[in-house]
Amino acid sequence: MLKQSISKKDMALDRKDTEIAKKDREIASLQESLNKSKPIDVVDMIDNTSSKRPRTEDASKSTLAFQHEQNQKIVKIKEEKIVRVEKRVVESNLIEARADLEDVRGQKEAAEAGLKNIRARIDDANRMPKVISFQLKYEHTHCGTCLTKFSADTDSKDEEIRKFLPVLSASKTCDHYFCHGCVLKRQATLAEEDDKVRKWIQCMHCRTITSFCPSEPKYHRLLIDILKQAKWTAPQIKEEPNE
Ligand SMILES: [Zn+2]
Ligand SMILES: [Zn+2]
Repeated sequence: MLKQSISKKDMALDRKDTEIAKKDREIASLQESLNKSKPIDVVDMIDNTSSKRPRTEDASKSTLAFQHEQNQKIVKIKEEKIVRVEKRVVESNLIEARADLEDVRGQKEAAEAGLKNIRARIDDANRMPKVISFQLKYEHTHCGTCLTKFSADTDSKDEEIRKFLPVLSASKTCDHYFCHGCVLKRQATLAEEDDKVRKWIQCMHCRTITSFCPSEPKYHRLLIDILKQAKWTAPQIKEEPNE
């Protein structure tokens, strides 16, 4: 009976030994897991849920899963940080670009205002009447040969009036002008002398050849316009003494 009891005790001891050995292995395994999971301590500071670390038999497996999860979180946090930095850079660039745009808009407005001002001044200048102060001298109003007043009546059909329209030399080197009547008289005089009618005659003042073509008079348009503007009272009727 006693022997039986001892045998039971031995068996029980053996089981305890087996259990102890098993526990030793578990402890060794846990220690190993703990050593491997060192980096998680860093993660623990970020994540409070790490206090829920499982301490079960398959702690090794759970710890690895937990570590993976934490690593994923770190990666995510880092990515979010990078995204936040990139966002700040983009926002900063956007603010700068907007400021630049405002600057350019301001410059454009200033340029447009300047252009508008210049256009307004040009318009004003164009609206201003062109006042020309021109002193009419005796030589402008009278033929240098016959000393008769010039006519400015280009519309007249009366040959006796048209005779007093100023005729300008057609020569490039002579700018003298006479009444058309004097040019015709000169042509007639030359025809009597040479017994032939010349188409072109010399200037009566400077003798430049091909100055006047009596049949196709080149009227002195500028002088006629000035005389008209000056309300020049040109001879309207035959008032010159007969020669
Ligand atoms: Zn004349
Ligand atoms: Zn001349």
